[in-house]
Amino acid sequence: MKPAKKSPASKGSSPRSDATAKAAAIVRKGERFLVATHVNPDGDALGSALALAAGLHRSGKSVTVYNADPVPYYLKFLPGSGAVTSRLLPSDRFDAVFVVDCSELARVGKAFLSRLEDFGISVVLDHHARGKRDGDVRCVDAKAAASGVVVHRLLERLGVALTKQIAVNLYVTLATDTGWFRYGNTSAGVLRLAARLVEAGAEPDRISRALQESSPPARLKLLARVLDSLELYEGGTIGLVALTRAMLKETGGTIEMTDDFVEFPRSVASVEAAALLRETPDGWRVSLRSKEAIDVGAVATGLEGGGHIRAAGFTMKGDLATVRARTVAALADALRKSPVYKRKTAC
Ligand code: AMP
Ligand code: MN
Ligand code: MN
Repeated sequence: MKPAKKSPASKGSSPRSDATAKAAAIVRKGERFLVATHVNPDGDALGSALALAAGLHRSGKSVTVYNADPVPYYLKFLPGSGAVTSRLLPSDRFDAVFVVDCSELARVGKAFLSRLEDFGISVVLDHHARGKRDGDVRCVDAKAAASGVVVHRLLERLGVALTKQIAVNLYVTLATDTGWFRYGNTSAGVLRLAARLVEAGAEPDRISRALQESSPPARLKLLARVLDSLELYEGGTIGLVALTRAMLKETGGTIEMTDDFVEFPRSVASVEAAALLRETPDGWRVSLRSKEAIDVGAVATGLEGGGHIRAAGFTMKGDLATVRARTVAALADALRKSPVYKRKTAC
């Protein structure tokens, strides 16, 4: 007898769907779950966590959503975000913990890591190509545009219907990590999923307004200061801006207001690699972005950070001049080795 042709349904035995099946079995078996995501959460992190939490809730489970940091003001409209907690009680015990959008468990923070053994089996739902292979069960798809895609796959496997609450959260994961459906990870599959989410109640105009037109006035004052700090290096191919704590003090702004400021140096025509340096009490938080010439994830990993090809980051201690020099040197080195960059500068 001829072997049966592989139908989409029989994709069932790939490592990816095996991991999804394991995660689904953990959900079915357990009662109490923790959902956690990375420090300084972005739209993919919180959207993924809240969509998963809503799905688990609908499956009759008890769920706690944890983040070491408060929900940024521009993500407070996410359904369910009011219940996110930054406190882990000594008595907290769970059957499993779902860690979303983290290349490694350490990205959730120290308080979480020190309690890991109280939280049962750990399931990672993520889309980072690099990082430690932490977690008992790993649903990691480096080709997924956002962790929300991986969460959606698990919810589908569980047979959870797409409610409006889930749809809005998942839509935000896609919008955030594809730069509003503009970056190279904006595939037909992403747009198809977005269409399904809109059918399920996500409203693109309202979500866009909530995320992009909710600025406190201080954000614009900060933007003016940060734009004024623009410096170009390597013949204009590196664009760098910096935000100091003094700027925050002078404008009355907060660091979360500047989460997307790295887009501005990236928007300069000649810029291939952009950097935003932000001063925090614990050192500098550096965000890197690239257009097509280099893999900033590799650059950030070399500096003990992490991330993706086009968006990555790391933290570094030191004064501004030192951090800036090291960032520029690492980007310049990657650019000089890039065949795309060589081709561009040759013509
Ligand atoms: P951000 O510039 O903060 O938006 O971060 C862009 C991407 O870089 C995120 O998706 C993270 O995966 C990654 N990333 C940022 N900061 C760090 C860090 N300190 N360690 C590891 N990965 C990071
Ligand atoms: Mn993230
Ligand atoms: Mn992500």
